[in-house]
Amino acid sequence: MTKPKRIEAARRMKQVMAEHFLGLDAAAKDPSRKVAWCNSVGPAELLHAMGFEVYFPENHSAILGATRAATEYIPYANAVGYSPDICSYLTADIGAFLKGYTPLTRAYGIESLPKPDVLVYNTNQCRDVQDWFTWYARHWDVPCVGLHTHRNIGPVTDDHVVSITAQLRTLTSQLEEVAGHELDMDRFREVVGLSRRCSQLWEQVLRTGTARPAAITFFDGTIHMGPAVVLRGLQVAVDYYEELLAELQERVSAGVAAVEGEQARIYWEGMPVWGKLRNLSEQLLGLRTCAVASTYCNSWVFNQLDPDHPFESMARAYTELFIVRSDRVKEDYIAQMCQDYAVDGILYHDARTCPNNSNSRYGMAQRLSQRLGIPHVTIDGDLNDLRCYSEEQARTNIEAFVEQLGQ
Ligand code: SF4
Repeated sequence: MTKPKRIEAARRMKQVMAEHFLGLDAAAKDPSRKVAWCNSVGPAELLHAMGFEVYFPENHSAILGATRAATEYIPYANAVGYSPDICSYLTADIGAFLKGYTPLTRAYGIESLPKPDVLVYNTNQCRDVQDWFTWYARHWDVPCVGLHTHRNIGPVTDDHVVSITAQLRTLTSQLEEVAGHELDMDRFREVVGLSRRCSQLWEQVLRTGTARPAAITFFDGTIHMGPAVVLRGLQVAVDYYEELLAELQERVSAGVAAVEGEQARIYWEGMPVWGKLRNLSEQLLGLRTCAVASTYCNSWVFNQLDPDHPFESMARAYTELFIVRSDRVKEDYIAQMCQDYAVDGILYHDARTCPNNSNSRYGMAQRLSQRLGIPHVTIDGDLNDLRCYSEEQARTNIEAFVEQLGQ
């Protein structure tokens, strides 16, 4: 069987991620340093600027999923009242914590999660992050604070920005109390500038999927997005994406395909099935079909960040996020992406426990197929709970879909 093509920069990324986790572990053990937990599209820039070490539970839960440990731990969270129908990042993570398990032990020799001094969320992606963080806040008796973003947003207006900016300022005061010092505005501007640079590079990395043949797949993106999620705002992420981008640009110049003999190009809409990345990637590879782009990986592109206006631009960037927008805006976004990446069809992943990232439930797939004149398929599954995923059914549906693309 053909294996996915290796990206050389992956070695460097492993190092960068190891340093991130080991740094967090050391910070958690050092009484003079402070740890903040943050959701993946939370106000990381503010936290870095205030000198917190920042830990991202979603990243941890995705590792639980990718290492196929998640499904085993979800029932322990169900047993303490967290429904099997809610976010399986939440349930896998809390379940694993209740059983004293973390994949960081095997990977880095880290015994336990870095205990937070504060947990910080933004509800722009969903309410689950708030409930998730509140559970840990109760457990450790530490503050849990956050931003409450409007939902189902059409055009992002000045009113939205003013409202979130005000919340960011209040949040800053709350964080200053925990940190024991004031926010240094120069450092804040610097971090926002670095985050913007990271975002620009990450977008350029993903845009190498527009090449024909594409230089990167959605599956590569799910692995290489790690630094954009957990290290944006730091120089290390900028350095990493410069290296990765250079390698992918070489691929584009040399006409090297991420999927050998690329025949069809699809758009992946929805979350990854973390425990099945390899199987899905290999299946598409065998079908000479490249998942050239996705909404998911592009969710960490924050082009609105502006170091001259750190509060306002953060408010805007994190409100323009796809997941929090109206269906109309989402459809326009996907249509544009399908055009930019010249895709032949769209694959929707209906993730059972994440309605927020599943866009096939209210007719969007049909509307877009009609509008774009391209077919779609929906696979039922989940980000972490593999009990919701039938390998056989997904394989059959994908095979039939690719056949349809060929016609
Ligand atoms: S967006 Fe979905 S996967 Fe992410 S935390 Fe919220 S419910 Fe979970």
